[in-house]
Amino acid sequence: MLKKDYEKYPNFDYIEFYFWFFRCKYKNHYLKKSTIESIVDPIDFFKKPKWTKVNAYSKPNLKLGLILSDIRSHISDAGYYDDPDLITSAHETTHGINSNVRNNLYNGKPINALYCLDGNAVVLNEPNTRIEIIAKHVPYSLRGSVYKLYLVDQAVSGWGDRPLYILDEWICYTNGSATRKDLGIVGRAETVKYMMEFNIYSLTLLMTVELEERGYDSEELTNFIRWNIERSMSIYNNEIEASSYLSTFRTASDVETLRVFTINKFGKQWCKKNLDI
Ligand SMILES: [Zn+2]
Repeated sequence: MLKKDYEKYPNFDYIEFYFWFFRCKYKNHYLKKSTIESIVDPIDFFKKPKWTKVNAYSKPNLKLGLILSDIRSHISDAGYYDDPDLITSAHETTHGINSNVRNNLYNGKPINALYCLDGNAVVLNEPNTRIEIIAKHVPYSLRGSVYKLYLVDQAVSGWGDRPLYILDEWICYTNGSATRKDLGIVGRAETVKYMMEFNIYSLTLLMTVELEERGYDSEELTNFIRWNIERSMSIYNNEIEASSYLSTFRTASDVETLRVFTINKFGKQWCKKNLDI
């Protein structure tokens, strides 16, 4: 490349060559910002979560569909978490896998583990920010049906100092909603609404931790929340209950701080594409 261009300039002198070389090498640095945005979609640069492999204990029983069979095959004591309701079975068994991975990897530092199918879990360090503090930052208009149970009552019952418990429930509702979709179950639409509520509680968790806890490295937490919001939006399928909750997120005036945080965190293009804000 250099040789070919050199041949185009038979009468060059070294000073001219020097400027030409640097103009070519660093030309992207001199493009206007607006030009760069039109060439490169920043969404392409988002990092995926760092996965931790989870052992499979049995072959998937495909009679249960792709999602539930995947979940059931990644726990050794599937019967303990089983439930006649297949969505509940997916939810509770995911809790079981999360707990097993968390306990296996625990080395004295609080962590949580979140099983996301295909033998992949993400493992994250627990922040110090308590659930009670996160709960206060959830906008009033978005305190939905499960807000009190998980962000108030469960915090008091002993989960207050484990804020990633919010993500634990989020993943269980996401896997439950994925099972519902996979098996074509018409009822139990509320599980999709709860997944959507946890999208917001997880965003509030991220906002609160970044606000309250400067020492916490939130990169992995950010990558995971962004990834699972994308996943949840591909599952939700415009369920009516979830849609009205999502509409409140998009429009309510008391959600402005959270919306601005989300746009600043994930960028306008990502937010438009995934959340329509
Ligand atoms: Zn649960």
